[in-house]
Amino acid sequence: MKTLTTPSSELVYNSEDFKQFMPSNFSSMLERSSALIRRILQDMGQWADNTAHEKLLLRLSFDLLERFIQYCPSQLPGRPPLLLDGFISEYFGKPQEQEIGRSTASNPILHRFLDGLLKRAVLSRDALVCLFYHFYGMKPVEVGFLLGLEEGQTQRIYKNFARWRQAGWHQSTKEAGLTSEDLHALTDAHTSNPSRFHEEVGQQLDSLLSFYRKSDPPYYPCLSINKWQDMFSEGYGFDYRMWHLPLCLSCMRSVRDLGDSFLLNPQIQLNLQIFPHSLKDDESASPCTTIHDRRTERRRQASHTKVRLAHSSMAC
Ligand SMILES: [Zn+2]
Repeated sequence: MKTLTTPSSELVYNSEDFKQFMPSNFSSMLERSSALIRRILQDMGQWADNTAHEKLLLRLSFDLLERFIQYCPSQLPGRPPLLLDGFISEYFGKPQEQEIGRSTASNPILHRFLDGLLKRAVLSRDALVCLFYHFYGMKPVEVGFLLGLEEGQTQRIYKNFARWRQAGWHQSTKEAGLTSEDLHALTDAHTSNPSRFHEEVGQQLDSLLSFYRKSDPPYYPCLSINKWQDMFSEGYGFDYRMWHLPLCLSCMRSVRDLGDSFLLNPQIQLNLQIFPHSLKDDESASPCTTIHDRRTERRRQASHTKVRLAHSSMAC
């Protein structure tokens, strides 16, 4: 019996070959179909980890593979697994647009913008670091402080910001299919009603972030406020802070609630920036010469907070 160890590289020439191909590759094709459908649903924010979604996935995977078996011979010669990918993506293309329209009816452009940023952030450190700016308006010096970098090392953050401004941001918005008019429409929506705008940003981020957080290279889960407190006051977990905090609104809230001990500017709140941080702002915000003193002062405050937290948890 013919067994294909690397089915995606196998060229199938005609319907007779395809009839032979399918029985021995049915389970791997079904697995492929299922994995792709799951990813598409996740990307679109239409997925939840529960039995109902798993059942739906199973049914759809079978259904689409059966339809594909009818369709594929008309597309040969070709590589069936790759043809299957195209078939499934196309199936979701049209109906999914409508789904997005419904789920993000009030602002589909915002959804595309946020999704575009996050897609880049799981691939690029520049994008990840710049989420602190896009979500909270944090300047490079504030990001360096939060990540626990010393003054000299903060230059790395300036470089992340510079590369993002020059190339990454443009790539992200282009990939998300956003025009200059779309971006200005977002700015207008922000300006005309900031609180309603940020309410929607928060809602959309809640569903998007929980998916993208699972894409972290090592998956760093949420921590309790006491664990964050320990990490900051003991000065460890720099990678943890960098990978988790930009992708988690609630842990950023915890860090803020620690009594501003670990933030250069404690007035942190959701404040979506559409355009990248400008060079002019960089110059006016040259690295703070007193950052060492500020950090020492913050650590002193942190030890007080730690005592307070210990007392409050004992009181519970
Ligand atoms: Zn978290």
